[in-house]
Amino acid sequence: MAHDRVSLFGAEEGVIAWAEEALGPGRTEPLSAAEGARLLREYRKLYRQCTRLVTLGDRMQRQLNGLNEQLAASEKKYRDIFENVVQGIFLAAPSGRVNDANVAMARLLGCDGPGELMAGPGLLAFLSDEEDWRALLEALLVEGGVSGHALRMNRRDGRALWVELFARAHFNGARLVQVEALVSDVTEQRAALETLREQARVDVLTGLYNRRYFMELSHREVARARREGRPASLVYFDVDHFKAVNDRLGHEAGDEVLRTLAALARASVRDLDIVGRLGGEEFAVLLPDTDRAGACCLAEKLRAAFAGCPVATCGGEVRCTASFGLAELGGRADCLLAMLRRADAALYRAKAGGRNAVCAHCGAAAAEPGAALEVDAASPPSRGRGAQEPGTA
Ligand code: GH3
Ligand code: MG
Ligand code: MG
Repeated sequence: MAHDRVSLFGAEEGVIAWAEEALGPGRTEPLSAAEGARLLREYRKLYRQCTRLVTLGDRMQRQLNGLNEQLAASEKKYRDIFENVVQGIFLAAPSGRVNDANVAMARLLGCDGPGELMAGPGLLAFLSDEEDWRALLEALLVEGGVSGHALRMNRRDGRALWVELFARAHFNGARLVQVEALVSDVTEQRAALETLREQARVDVLTGLYNRRYFMELSHREVARARREGRPASLVYFDVDHFKAVNDRLGHEAGDEVLRTLAALARASVRDLDIVGRLGGEEFAVLLPDTDRAGACCLAEKLRAAFAGCPVATCGGEVRCTASFGLAELGGRADCLLAMLRRADAALYRAKAGGRNAVCAHCGAAAAEPGAALEVDAASPPSRGRGAQEPGTA
């Protein structure tokens, strides 16, 4: 540093050394005119240099002031965006401690202000499941950033909240030191989506699962049963002479009959059973952990309940019956579609045998013979009061 200064001001220091010597106390002779003129020259030169340096310093100070003003303006601009944006923003440590947050973020979580959030126990206190935070950190570690990452949170007042995060990780070397996130409240969109999903799964007339969702759930259940070597059965049923109900009492009365049968079916099964309307006046129940005997019991109970339950409709009371076909999950190669085909064949036999009956399929894929109520092509179906056209009660 000293070397730099000497090299920078070497000439001036030389002049000062000479002047000290010329004017110093060790000098005995008077100053000559030439020496005086040189001193004056050097003094003027130094004065000019000082003036230049002061001007340069002033200019630099002005530039610095300008830069500081620009920096403050830009900081204010981004602070304004940070404070006024509708999305929540937080900067948090991996522990969940909030280093900074905007007003929207505090409002989102039901806090009075960012200060409360920063002084509080951190984001983990607002998460429904702390595992979700760990999963977010893992995703950030791998990807560096996430977009549309959903988190289930709870506001300070306990109200549930769904948020979506656009987050970025800050690293110090390989260590994740801060999470920066833009947060949107998507609770309403989630609820709307859930309603739509629900609507897409449910049959509007009966409230049962529609065919598509029944098949989706049942496929899953049959696969699980096959994997775990557990039983499962399918009951497929169809209203008898339903066309006659519509023709005689009107379509609305027919709808009422379908709603009644659907309600009976739902009330007759366990929570884990899957009940669906496969179309028109055809329904099915997939019974997990149920063998053919159990399925026959359920079908018989439902058959008797429906046959014994007069339905009050806008066209008057009507008694209806339904026919039932059963199939039990067979060997390893069996599947839901094959079960449906077998149950349909059994249902066809129940219809052909006079309706208002329960028929179990006992083809190659069926369970061991001899189960209760087992019916094959040669034996008559289990039936209540026999074939009968629907009639007004
Ligand atoms: P089977 O005993 O052989 O089953 O005779 P069925 O009359 O019940 O059978 P068919 O297939 O001849 O008639 C079914 C009727 O179901 C015809 C159709 O108009 C009626 N249907 C289908 N969907 C609905 C519905 O949502 N509401 C009403 N009211 N009727 C429907
Ligand atoms: Mg029918
Ligand atoms: Mg039918």
